Amino acid sequence: MSNLRIGTGIDVHPLVSGRPMFLACLNWPDETSGCEGHSDGDVAAHAACDAILSAAGMGDLGSVFGTSDPKWSGASGEDLLKEVASQVASAGWKIVNVSVQVIANSPKIGSRREEAQSAMSIALGGVPVSLAGTTTDGLGLTGRGEGVAAIASALLEAPQDR
Ligand SMILES: [Zn+2]
Repeated sequence: MSNLRIGTGIDVHPLVSGRPMFLACLNWPDETSGCEGHSDGDVAAHAACDAILSAAGMGDLGSVFGTSDPKWSGASGEDLLKEVASQVASAGWKIVNVSVQVIANSPKIGSRREEAQSAMSIALGGVPVSLAGTTTDGLGLTGRGEGVAAIASALLEAPQDR
């Protein structure tokens, strides 16, 4: 039996006018609105964390960090990726790669793709990260500009005894 495990994660945050935009471990200073949340609202990082935890069968962001835990209030996407990478590594898992797609009208991921992929990769300890962007052609909550969504997949190599 293969010792590879895949996991999926999805995240959505509402957009709020005047809040700074943090996405894929980068600040996007040209954006006039940003994601609301208990943390910095980085949907790409959060979806990636959930995908990694899911692949390892270690729960999800809510169960690991708790949305009410003040320790993680205002936590950056980078902080959460580092903590998740550390927790799965402690349990013997190796992250093979992570793929994330952002669903939003703005910002355009392609303009800073390399920089964002590199920032997320560094947070995960050098794991390859691929980042894509898409829109919903004006449909739904992302199309109306009410929020930003992200979906992620992660591939992990299980510990030898799994
Ligand atoms: Zn989130």
